[in-house]
Amino acid sequence: MLTIALSKGRILQKTLPLLKKAGLEIADKELNSRKLILDTNLDEVKVIVIRATDVPVFVQHGAADMGIAGKDVLLEHGANGLFELLDLNIAQCKLMVAASDKEKLKQDTLKIATKYVNSAKRYFDAKNQQTEIIKLYGAMELAPVVGLAHCIVDLVDTGNTLKANGLIPLEHIENISSRLVVNAASFKTKNAQIKTWIESIEKNL
Ligand code: AMP
Repeated sequence: MLTIALSKGRILQKTLPLLKKAGLEIADKELNSRKLILDTNLDEVKVIVIRATDVPVFVQHGAADMGIAGKDVLLEHGANGLFELLDLNIAQCKLMVAASDKEKLKQDTLKIATKYVNSAKRYFDAKNQQTEIIKLYGAMELAPVVGLAHCIVDLVDTGNTLKANGLIPLEHIENISSRLVVNAASFKTKNAQIKTWIESIEKNL
C-alpha cells in the first residue's frame, strides 16, 4: 500500500491532472465525499487530502509515504526526514517582503506580519536585521495598512493583492512551486514502487 498526501485548495486542482497523466485517478465521488482517506483507481494507492501545512507533518511521521506541498510550506516546516524528489513546477509564485514603500524597511527593529515566521526570521537574520515577527494566519496585507507591522512576508503571484492594499513587493526571498516529497524510511522500504511513480509523474510534467 502507498499513501499519498495532497494539499487541499489551489494546489489540489493543479495536482490532480498531473496524477491522472501518471495513471492515478480519484473519482469525483471520492473527492466530493467527506471521507478523509480516498480510494483511487488503483487498489494499492490511497490518497489523503489535507491542509497544505499538514502535508510535511504526515509524510515526516510516515502517516503518508509521499506528499505534494508548496516549497513555502516545506521551508517553514524544515522538512526533516523528508526527501524532496521532484519540482512539479505548479502553483508557482514568490515569497517576498512587501511594504507601502521601501523606507518602511529602514527600522532598528523591523515589525513583520507573516505566517512564514521561520522563513522570515531566517531571511532577516542573515541580513543582521533585528525583527519582531507577528504571526498571522491570513490577511497579512492588512497589517501594514492598520499599523500592526512595517512590512509583510507573503506569497506573491500576480501582485494584485498587494496592489489592492497599497503595498509593493520589495525583496525576493524564494521562488516557490509545489514539490513532491517522500518519507525517508518509505523511500527505502518501498523504493521500487515510489521510483516508478516518480518516473511516471516526471515523464508527464
Ligand atoms: P496575487 O494577488 O496573485 O499576487 O496572489 C497573492 C495571494 O494569493 C496571497 O494571499 C497569497 O498568499 C496567495 N497565493 C498566491 N500564490 C499562491 C500559491 N502558489 N500557493 C498558495 N497561495 C498563493
